[in-house]
Amino acid sequence: YKEIHLVNRPEGMPTNDDFKFVEKEIPTPGENEVLLKTLYLSVDPYMRGRMRDIKSYIPPFQLNEALVGGVLAEVVESRSDLFEKGDIVSNNLSWSEYNVANATKLQKVDPTAASITAHLSVLGLTGLTAYFGLLDIAKPQAGETVVVSGAAGAVGSIVGQLAKIKGARAVGIAGSDDKIDYLINELGFDAAVNYKKDSFKEDLIAALPDGVDVYFDNVGGDISDAVMNELNKHARVTVCGAISSYNSVDGDVGPRIQGQFIKTSAMMKGFTLGDYAKDLPTGVVALTQWLQEGKLKYDETIVEGFENTPDAFLGLFKGTNLGKQLVKVADP
Ligand code: NDP
Repeated sequence: YKEIHLVNRPEGMPTNDDFKFVEKEIPTPGENEVLLKTLYLSVDPYMRGRMRDIKSYIPPFQLNEALVGGVLAEVVESRSDLFEKGDIVSNNLSWSEYNVANATKLQKVDPTAASITAHLSVLGLTGLTAYFGLLDIAKPQAGETVVVSGAAGAVGSIVGQLAKIKGARAVGIAGSDDKIDYLINELGFDAAVNYKKDSFKEDLIAALPDGVDVYFDNVGGDISDAVMNELNKHARVTVCGAISSYNSVDGDVGPRIQGQFIKTSAMMKGFTLGDYAKDLPTGVVALTQWLQEGKLKYDETIVEGFENTPDAFLGLFKGTNLGKQLVKVADP
């Protein structure tokens, strides 16, 4: 079987040459361990940050070792009382077709609550990031305007729908007319604006007749400067991600309009989902309920084949995904 190693620390946009497929022998699980067959892999923008050798909230990936990310896997051999053959788990594991893991560290998936892939999307990292970043940090109120960038992606698409559930007006920003159409006509956003158009700033202002009370920022840079220029008094900005600078060789850009925060007494707060480690089950329960009530939709872009994992990852920076980007590695 194969696993995927990081072989270079990319400068700027990563390429396929930064990844290497390495052949391995299927390992035998020891006592209290299980052998796991990977079914689906999650590719996530934050993984780009771990490719840099810098101090962060999470250590960098090591060169010539397997990358690690969200994996949905099936137990194919168990030497633990906690798991049986056929159980499905969702965990951070190596980007590998097989993993051996200590059973006590694994999270069993309830295959009846939603589709199993939902545990890597709306009920996993990205859905929970939307839930806590919007509802705990920004606390949108009925009638307020919530703007979200990266709106047609995994986190953003959930943020806009949660804003609607709370009675707010949802305005999305995304990078193609198809995504704009999807946000308005499929997800029920009140307005959406394509940031790649020359008319972006005018279109944005036209979509914000009552200004901005909440901005959920997934991208940073120029897009965020344009939104923050429209903040209302006591606006709240959740800093979730800054994908526009992840491949920049010059580092971060923005925020560049501090004056706007002074004038409006606005608040800006960053976070990582790890801050909410003990609250995650509450988020899963709430999101599951909205899914079952039909109040929340989620889409996944699923690339077939383990060999296409690097391309799926690189696609995040080109916007090829709608909703959560996953890779299907094997059938259960
Ligand atoms: P997405 O599914 O949103 O995929 C990334 C999207 O970003 C692409 O589809 C693309 O859409 C957009 N994009 C890519 N490059 C740019 C650019 N230069 N400028 C503007 N938009 C761009 O990914 P996620 O939902 O998984 O993540 C969204 C953000 O949330 C990321 O910044 C991520 O790092 C962050 N995050 C933070 C977490 C936390 O704990 N704080 C946890 C999880 C994610 P388009 O076609 O619209 O350009």
